[in-house]
Amino acid sequence: MLTLDKVSLLYGNFQALHGVDIHADEGELVVLLGANGAGKSSIFHAVSGLQRASGGSIRFGGRELVGRKPSQIVEDGLVHCPEGRKLFPGMSVLKNLTLGGYVHRRDGKGSQRLLDEVFALFPILHEKKDCPAGSLSGGQQQMVAIGRALMGRPKALLLDEPSLGLAPLVVRQMFEIIARINQAGTTVLLAEQNAYAALNIASRAYVIEQGRIVLEGSREELLGNEQVRKAYIGA
Ligand code: ATP
Repeated sequence: MLTLDKVSLLYGNFQALHGVDIHADEGELVVLLGANGAGKSSIFHAVSGLQRASGGSIRFGGRELVGRKPSQIVEDGLVHCPEGRKLFPGMSVLKNLTLGGYVHRRDGKGSQRLLDEVFALFPILHEKKDCPAGSLSGGQQQMVAIGRALMGRPKALLLDEPSLGLAPLVVRQMFEIIARINQAGTTVLLAEQNAYAALNIASRAYVIEQGRIVLEGSREELLGNEQVRKAYIGA
């Protein structure tokens, strides 16, 4: 469904990605593990068109994405939920959510149905729909960010560090929700530093170091890999 083939990315003279090969099949939940600065966000930026890959190919549902505009990529069904949430803090929760459905704005009824689905997944957001997004707790703000991404009707969702800065109990809820979104049929590519929790809901995972994929395997293979346990799980 999504295939990155030898993708490289430059920021000026600095090469952040070096020939990255990744694929996610339809319905999979694939995890990207890596330390700060390894290149996880750069991969997502290249896929969603926020940064243009300087080499290689990114195909989604048979279409080449390199060179397509970010809004077209959302219309194709690939939605990026960025690290740090990037909400509009002064706008209401409802407004933030509906902005995620912007590319489908002509379909008013469909948007209401999607909004109902988001509220069913995150009932607290319905209660807080008129509050400024910036007044919510960190976990609730992350729910708004994921809800906004779901309003774009993703076939595939790129989630960049959704557990960042959240309390352990909230992190657990967040991973349960991500697993539910995936079980409902959305393909998920999840970048995480919270390796154990992420691997537990994953089908497969990749380890990225300094812009290169250094390891790839199934959940079981990576959970059992001593290098991974030492570097990312701490056991
Ligand atoms: P983090 O979790 O800290 O965001 P990451 O794995 O997502 O880490 P990236 O943000 O993709 O890593 O960064 C990969 C490398 O690219 C790092 O060395 C980073 O400093 C560099 N980098 C990222 N964005 C830019 C930019 N806009 N300009 C220059 N260098 C950048």
